[in-house]
Amino acid sequence: MTQESKEAPAPPKKLPPYKLASRITHPQNSTIKVGNFEIGGPEFIVMAGPCSVEHDPQMLGTAWDVKVSGAHIIRGGAFKPRSSPYSFQGLAEEGLKMLSKARELTGLSIVTEVMDSTDIDLVESYADVLQVGARNSQNFSLLKRLSKTQKPVLLKRGLMNTVEELLCSAEYILAGGNANVILCERGIRTFETSTRNTLDLSAVLAIKERSHLPVIVDPSHASGKAHYVAPLSKAALAVGADGLMIEVHCSPETALCDGEESLTPQVFRELMAQLRDLAPHFGRSISTINNPQEAGASQS
Ligand code: PEP
Ligand code: MN
Repeated sequence: MTQESKEAPAPPKKLPPYKLASRITHPQNSTIKVGNFEIGGPEFIVMAGPCSVEHDPQMLGTAWDVKVSGAHIIRGGAFKPRSSPYSFQGLAEEGLKMLSKARELTGLSIVTEVMDSTDIDLVESYADVLQVGARNSQNFSLLKRLSKTQKPVLLKRGLMNTVEELLCSAEYILAGGNANVILCERGIRTFETSTRNTLDLSAVLAIKERSHLPVIVDPSHASGKAHYVAPLSKAALAVGADGLMIEVHCSPETALCDGEESLTPQVFRELMAQLRDLAPHFGRSISTINNPQEAGASQS
């Protein structure tokens, strides 16, 4: 008698609470298009600029410097989530206008934070990517409202959130109809006080295993120390992140926010050169330095 070798069908995989963000429903990596670049593909994407938009010369000068060094996207906060109500809160629409000038000057896209649902229309009318900061990572009404925009959302991990919670937050945006979500590991709060936060690089691996969404690393807010930013950036590249968000200021010592973790344009330029050399060792590339002439404008 011959033995029948009928294999039992594999039991269906149980879906996690973040169904659409899960690799089970979407096995291929997602790529998100921003300007001329794709986040989540072979190009290692670097977003750089000051913590806060302060004034035209600061924003335009820094934007130009990071563009010439090879950054892909310009960052700058116009609505700032500050721990103290007496700290600089950002320039609001005036700051958005300065960011918009930085986009005209450099030809690069801009990412900026939206803190409140009531500001989404305003911020969306200027920004190319809408940032949800760590403190708003579980602001579910904000996330639901962002699910109705079609602009990419950069969702930062909350200070006390697990990877599963971050993916559930992303799910709010996906479930409402916006598939363009980029995740960001920016350090979590632990008992360790030698850095501002604890950069959880394993989270990149855990996210990549569970989700198809691109993930970038913010070593500036993770460490709080400018001289930790370069080594942590290289580690992020090595561990498989899709890019970085780095704070750069033309004059860190006079910055109105986060000067201690901001790189000077010169240090940023050196870091970009090092990352460009390292990227191919990790299956990535960083396109060659943008030609300033291509920006379509000249620095005044
Ligand atoms: C920021 O990127 O400006 C910021 C406030 O970061 P986080 O939300 O990660 O603290
Ligand atoms: Mn900052």
